[in-house]
Amino acid sequence: MEATELNVIDETISEASLPEACPSCHGKLSVRLSPDGISTVCLGCHFMGRAQLETDEYGSTSLELLPTAQA
Ligand SMILES: [Zn+2]
Repeated sequence: MEATELNVIDETISEASLPEACPSCHGKLSVRLSPDGISTVCLGCHFMGRAQLETDEYGSTSLELLPTAQA
């Protein structure tokens, strides 16, 4: 999964949105990157989760959603 566009909110917080990335409803997922980590929230069903950035040996960065317990 590629993190395509980042909207910089301030020096420490950036946001991105990932279409069809919600693991619950496949809706648009809003991703917030902050010093505390990466949190995600779905704009459709408000599913909340965590994610982490993975940087490979070629320097490209991708976003990996961390598995969370299903309700
Ligand atoms: Zn959703």
